[in-house]
Amino acid sequence: MPKIVQKDDPVLHRHAREVPPADILTPKIQRVIDDMRKALVAEEDGVAIAAPQIGVPLRIFVVSKRALEIEDEIAREDAEDAGAPSAKRSALHDLVFINPEITKLSKKQKWVPEGCLSVRWLYGKVLRAEKATVRAYDEHGKIFTRGGSGLMAQIFQHETDHLDGALFIEKARNIEEIPPEHLKKARA
Ligand code: ZN
Repeated sequence: MPKIVQKDDPVLHRHAREVPPADILTPKIQRVIDDMRKALVAEEDGVAIAAPQIGVPLRIFVVSKRALEIEDEIAREDAEDAGAPSAKRSALHDLVFINPEITKLSKKQKWVPEGCLSVRWLYGKVLRAEKATVRAYDEHGKIFTRGGSGLMAQIFQHETDHLDGALFIEKARNIEEIPPEHLKKARA
């Protein structure tokens, strides 16, 4: 099982390298993606992970199926509140972002609670844009663009920060320690 490195590890404080697009389909890169998925699935409430968190200084992050389910659930509730017929639940799987670039951030920002799989067990509030759009390569080497609001936008910003060597605690306020037994929160 790939180990998730913790906050003092130098790999979390370095700018991660781009993946040459021609290398995406190589066993080496596919193995990194596979290891990231395994490490993330093993964390009961993890919602996303960046490659440096398993000690690999490359610009890749993975968003879990769980995060997409939360996003889907909120969208369905919003639709119901608006009186729209409830949409059929879509089949969801995790999303891989290689060489991600944030192409759009909403001006509107909000202080949101945040935690990190590499900063146990600290939590704090971070100022994040409410909406974000990312362009990246997927695990098949295809370019795609994905927008998100709320939790998804927060994940995009948290994960690209990881790829730039930044941890949320460097910009958080009201940092507190919450022991794992008192916890039911999403971490990334
Ligand atoms: Zn994190």
